[in-house]
Amino acid sequence: MTTLEVRDVDVYYGRVHALRGLSFTVEEGEIVCLLGNNGAGKSTTMNLLSGLVRPKAGSVLWDGMDLAAASPWNIVSAGLIHVPEGRRIFSTMTVHENLLLGGYTVGDQKKVAERLDQVYSLMPRLAERRKQQGGTLSGGEQQMVAIGRALIGGPKLLLLDEPSMGLAPLVVRQVMDIVAAVNAQGTTVLLVEQNARAALKIAHRAYVVETGATTVSGPAADLASDPRVIEAYLGG
Ligand code: ATP
Repeated sequence: MTTLEVRDVDVYYGRVHALRGLSFTVEEGEIVCLLGNNGAGKSTTMNLLSGLVRPKAGSVLWDGMDLAAASPWNIVSAGLIHVPEGRRIFSTMTVHENLLLGGYTVGDQKKVAERLDQVYSLMPRLAERRKQQGGTLSGGEQQMVAIGRALIGGPKLLLLDEPSMGLAPLVVRQVMDIVAAVNAQGTTVLLVEQNARAALKIAHRAYVVETGATTVSGPAADLASDPRVIEAYLGG
């Protein structure tokens, strides 16, 4: 069983104490969501898992591998692939070229071709627009490209940082349906979201992150009916 275990992690940016004893786990096959407001530490957590920031204390283990000591390259090779906040696709490259970038770390070109077919069948909108430049796509389509690019890398754990950001409610729904479909096809997902309503609909379990630590946690359905979560994250 491939598991991610983050335990008692502290991260600092200079004097800013961004993560304060953060702990959570993700089991194989799950969609786990980290909910939290601006500045709670969600992006820092994703950057921690990608090897972009290092913990001052605590441990980060993925299938026995110490991510706190691993290089970003080795982390990607171990199957943790990060879709960063703000999507960061290349605006002057086509959809197809953007997707191919996800195959950069994959040696086997046959695998890349197979995964491209899977991405296009999961997101037919991208197949229709494969020759269109990234910068001309809608926000939802750009998010699909960012997810598709990660899928070409063959993630074991897909790290999604605020995929709903800036999208209209209907488009958020479409993106969340895609994430649920990716998970149903066997990819474990860690989803970081401010949009608690959308995230709790597809997550199995969730944690609330507040000032760098997890507070409330449990099955997503329980959190969706927890008065503390309703009050703070579901608009009363
Ligand atoms: P957002 O949704 O706004 O991205 P977040 O929950 O992802 O919020 P983080 O970006 O992880 O939160 O930030 C956690 C804390 O660390 C905040 O207090 C933030 O101001 C601080 N922080 C983040 N990045 C840096 C940095 N590069 N230098 C200094 N402080 C930082």
